[in-house]
Amino acid sequence: MTVKNKILLHACCGICSSYPIFQLREMGYEPIVYFYNPNIYPIEEYNKRVEAEKTLCNSNNCELVIAKYEPDVYFEKVKGFEQEPEHGKRCDICFEIRLRKSAQYALKSGIDTFTTSIVISPHKNFKLISEIGFKIANDYGLKYLAIDFKKKDGFLKTNKIANSLKLYRQNYCGCKFSVRKEEKEWNAV
Ligand code: SF4
Repeated sequence: MTVKNKILLHACCGICSSYPIFQLREMGYEPIVYFYNPNIYPIEEYNKRVEAEKTLCNSNNCELVIAKYEPDVYFEKVKGFEQEPEHGKRCDICFEIRLRKSAQYALKSGIDTFTTSIVISPHKNFKLISEIGFKIANDYGLKYLAIDFKKKDGFLKTNKIANSLKLYRQNYCGCKFSVRKEEKEWNAV
């Protein structure tokens, strides 16, 4: 039996993490999915996204860790940046919070590599998120796998998997401040 290398996959939501699980397995990894998203608001929305992640992982026989919901941590860190537009400084902080916590969990669990599903969205800056990932990996002596899941139709594929499982589909990025953009600019995950 082949023993696969474990990798911690930070999952931002079920839709975005659908194809990354598949792709990482194709690459020879066994992903441990880590759901840590204190940015999501309100709690009802958070719970819907957790349920979607559970459905995805159950159907793929994939280990899932749901971290504690810590909205206070998010609000404290983005204080002063509430009015930033999407893709601004608040988002950089949001990526940093989630990736750092993921790295800490990976370290604690003896998993030496981590990555994130956030980058699969065409709305997200792969280069910037990769730089944050590398910096955090360096802080903890871990490896960050910078893989642009949206490449080779990854975004299309993730949506197909999510649709086949009827996963909950959000219409805003996640935080309280992105709700105001609902349905204006946010047509996809
Ligand atoms: S818009 Fe999205 S990435 Fe930016 S802070 Fe809000 S939840 Fe985080």
